[in-house]
Amino acid sequence: MSSYAALLAAIQAPEGQGVQMRDPATGAVVGRAPQRSEADLDAAVATARQAQSEWAAASHAERSEYLNRAADAIEGSAEALAELLSREQGKPLNGPNARFEVGACASWLRANAAFELEPEVLVDDESGQAVLEYVPVGVVGAIGPWNWPMMISIWQIAPSLRMGNTVVLKPSEYTPLSVLALGAVLNQVLPAGVLQVVPGGGELGAALTAHAGVDKLMFTGSTSTGQAIMRSAADTLKRLTLELGGNDAGIVLPDADPEAIAEGVFWGAFINTGQTCAALKRLYVHESQYDQMCEALVDVAKKMPMGVGLEEENVLGPLQNRQQFDIVSGLVEESRSAGARILIGGDPQQDQPGYFYPATLVADVDNDNPLVAQEQFGPALPIVKYTALDEVIGWANGLEVGLGSSVWGTDLDEARAVAARLEAGTTWINKHGAVDPRVPFGGVKKSGYGLEFGVEGLKSVALPKVTSW
Ligand code: NAD
Repeated sequence: MSSYAALLAAIQAPEGQGVQMRDPATGAVVGRAPQRSEADLDAAVATARQAQSEWAAASHAERSEYLNRAADAIEGSAEALAELLSREQGKPLNGPNARFEVGACASWLRANAAFELEPEVLVDDESGQAVLEYVPVGVVGAIGPWNWPMMISIWQIAPSLRMGNTVVLKPSEYTPLSVLALGAVLNQVLPAGVLQVVPGGGELGAALTAHAGVDKLMFTGSTSTGQAIMRSAADTLKRLTLELGGNDAGIVLPDADPEAIAEGVFWGAFINTGQTCAALKRLYVHESQYDQMCEALVDVAKKMPMGVGLEEENVLGPLQNRQQFDIVSGLVEESRSAGARILIGGDPQQDQPGYFYPATLVADVDNDNPLVAQEQFGPALPIVKYTALDEVIGWANGLEVGLGSSVWGTDLDEARAVAARLEAGTTWINKHGAVDPRVPFGGVKKSGYGLEFGVEGLKSVALPKVTSW
């Protein structure tokens, strides 16, 4: 399946069936996504249950070998996967986008294959012994969003498989072909029944959440859907990992060098054209640096080409769907009518195909403006001026969500002292959103709970099992 045509042919619905997926940059039809019913879901869960005991009986070394071979398979089909991802999701091939995402899938698999998870000896003395080990949960249900459809699926699949679980995954209805393609490539090497992708809408996700044959649910998506999932999972007392929405603050301290950090701040905010859970979504800049920071960001934004994903020069793409385009443009308009200053962008061309919204920087905006207080999930960054550190820390912590955050400055001790006061699962210093497969990642407050990545991520798709004698 190294060619694009072969990959698409392997996954799409027969002619005249399924749902037509369109390229958000051009409106062109990408392919036909099959739709699965609840009966199909039942069958997939039954298959996953059946496959699970043999998969769990394999050793960690054997399963790690499968993950490494799965990474090889991705690398063998990388260009075809990136092309499909670019067409369906809209993200450009280049920049931190489609090729980067496919490459990250292989890296995450290899990292998960390499982690060591030894039994922990808790007690070993004259009173006796106690050992803590991690055993498979069983069948993992996974539900994902449309912004990083392949990478987030791998975040769910890789640790689950490594720990001896089987996986039934429901992709977003906006990007099913990308995830079906990923699954097809992985299934070239995985044993039958270990990984199944079941495309459908929110109702199918709800059925997976409520399913009695699913032991653990990993969800990445909005806070409101996460809340619905939590309610529904109560009946079966399913274990949950919830990676939900965020509205990450970035604080630029008085000793920061605006020119030096501008590109890092820009990509922290505009990675994947702003459609990233842990993107920098509100930037707080000390008054002494405010004008220089605004200017430096405008200079960077001017240099970043936006356009159709398959055109090699582009590094920013369209919004993935109309709904998200409307959210972003509505929030920018609200800020404009409240008197904010649009430094660049804010003027989408309505007469061209595609949901293109230009990279937009908004200055002189109040902290309680909806563009600051709500998750825009798109290419519009509000830049808020602050005077006192206590005030800005209060603003950063003032929302109900807490996924990521960042502090930008020259004195590392000072930056770390500020980082310690921020309510977020991760605080980066002089970077933002730089996830790493070895480093646990997760939210606090209404950004969810449970950790992904690293050895902690393996533990969260396993059951702790103590033996004491
Ligand atoms: P969404 O919640 O609308 O949809 C996510 C998935 O949930 C889709 O597959 C959808 O079909 C499914 N779904 C919808 N209703 C459901 C229900 N009742 N039960 C079960 N499943 C249901 O989210 P989205 O718009 O696709 O993604 C954007 C959001 O995701 C943003 O808020 C973003 O911050 C968040 N996100 C978080 C992370 C993270 O790691 N914390 C990563 C990426 C995106």
